[in-house]
Amino acid sequence: MTNHVSAHAARLSKLRGMFVAQVPSKLTEARDLLAVVKKGDDSNELTSQLKRVFHNLKGTSASFGLKELSGEAEAAEMLIDHLMRQPGLYTIDFINEVLQHIAKIDHLAAQSARDMAPSVLPSIDKVFTPTAHNQQKDINSRRTIYVCDDDDVQIRQINSQLTCFGYDVHCFLTIDSLRQAVRKQKPDAVVMDVVFPEGEDAGLKVVAEFREMTGEVIPTIFISGRSDFQARLQAVKAGGKAFLNKTMHGLDIVEHLDALTTTVKPEPYSVLVIDDEPLVAAYHASILEEAGIIVHVTHNPSAALVMLRELRPELVLMDVHMPDCEGYELAQVIRQMPEYVSIPIIYLSSETDAAIQRSALAVGADGFLIKSITPEELISAVVVRAERMRTLRSLMVRDSLTGLYNHTAIMQFLEGEVAGSRRRKGRLCFAMIDVDHFKKVNDTYGHPVGDQVLISLARILKQQLRQNDLVGRYGGEEFAVVLLDATIEKACELLNALREDFGGVKFWANDQEFSVTISIGVAQYPGCEGVGALCELADNALYAAKRGGRNRVMIAGPGGTFL
Ligand code: GH3
Ligand code: MG
Ligand code: MG
Repeated sequence: MTNHVSAHAARLSKLRGMFVAQVPSKLTEARDLLAVVKKGDDSNELTSQLKRVFHNLKGTSASFGLKELSGEAEAAEMLIDHLMRQPGLYTIDFINEVLQHIAKIDHLAAQSARDMAPSVLPSIDKVFTPTAHNQQKDINSRRTIYVCDDDDVQIRQINSQLTCFGYDVHCFLTIDSLRQAVRKQKPDAVVMDVVFPEGEDAGLKVVAEFREMTGEVIPTIFISGRSDFQARLQAVKAGGKAFLNKTMHGLDIVEHLDALTTTVKPEPYSVLVIDDEPLVAAYHASILEEAGIIVHVTHNPSAALVMLRELRPELVLMDVHMPDCEGYELAQVIRQMPEYVSIPIIYLSSETDAAIQRSALAVGADGFLIKSITPEELISAVVVRAERMRTLRSLMVRDSLTGLYNHTAIMQFLEGEVAGSRRRKGRLCFAMIDVDHFKKVNDTYGHPVGDQVLISLARILKQQLRQNDLVGRYGGEEFAVVLLDATIEKACELLNALREDFGGVKFWANDQEFSVTISIGVAQYPGCEGVGALCELADNALYAAKRGGRNRVMIAGPGGTFL
């Protein structure tokens, strides 16, 4: 951890060093501009260029905590501003005054370069917390479940159900073998019988024992024929999270396990930073990344739309003054697109003029931060708004039954991904999934049971596919999946595993056990024109899978053939 912090501090210090080293060349630029202006060639264009040099120096040095330098640059900026408003003021005295500021800035920058004390840095260490970033590594790895039951049949059933849902299941017929396994490696959760040959409450005792042994509670689900108060109380005392009757079904356990093992790791927020000053952008990116946020950076406002579409950030952090496109203009461009009406836009600028701030906010931006802001303030301003965006977005784009992306959302993502693949010369596969004879499920067991089947399928889709893949409910009992950077072979392998797993799930209704199958059609990009053609190919392949007897994956080949 300490290493990590100091690596971060070192990176910031390096950025600051790079900035300070650049100051002399920026001042040369200012002097050159001033010389041209001095010749009487004082066009507005030149003076505003000059003003921009000081403005950027002010903002960047404020970002890096170089207050004096920033103040000096601000004074110079104000002088130039004055000149722009009253050109008559332009005199030798005036030029000398600007030159004095330049000399002072030069001096301050050289001084900072010499004694680059870490104390000039804003208090980065304070904001450093162990972040999602660091905890991320096992987000996608399979969760290990130990199942212990002396009933051979029961344990087999549980094993097959949990495996279908992507858990890494280890089975133990005796308490002793479980004990040994826990000593070796702690599982993510335990599914535990209560009554064993060792005693009526042997299962409860051993879980309490694990608690003492490891000093932690291993999330445990008890399954038991016993259902008396004493057993339940003892289970709670042992740290049990659920107590299920032996008549339960595999799906009940899965539901509890999902809740027990998937809660704590929210995806990191994603932010787009737009700033024409590369060092400032890198500096802010660095602060946000340290807080576990995923940051995409561009120095070019014209790249913003493509990045918004492809990277789907939850917030835009932008500079106000940029060449060719001012921040408030870019904000309007973004806001005029229906899909971005609610994305939070925050300005991060050295602009202190209240009137300019107000008019920048008036176009529908969400906040105005000053570049000398502390890292803590920056992080909290970003996180609060990104969080709200995530909630809003999930309400807008999620299907309420399954929690998957809804039709509109998944199609939008597909558009974005196809465009991205075209540009990057990347690849993706698109699959359409349809439940076989679903009408019969509804007719036989009732609509609510049909709903449970759809929810289970959605859960399997989310669990089995890779983290970057996009899963949506296309409509009714049809689902759509976008597999990013996947060859058709890889996609088929994943989809076939999925099909088999779902087919292995046992549903229960009206005292009957039944299972359900799915048919899948898949097409790849490149290999077709665009989104429309890709959907049509996948749909045709799905139809062919149905005609071919259902419960299979069909691949769309060239010219309407199937592979
Ligand atoms: P096939 O194998 O050819 O796909 O047959 P199928 O019966 O699955 O296809 P069909 O399109 O004839 O029937 C789909 C059924 O899905 C009809 C509809 O009532 C049902 N359905 C659609 N949405 C839902 C839902 O949200 N919940 C439930 N329970 N049923 C739904
Ligand atoms: Mg169907
Ligand atoms: Mg259908």
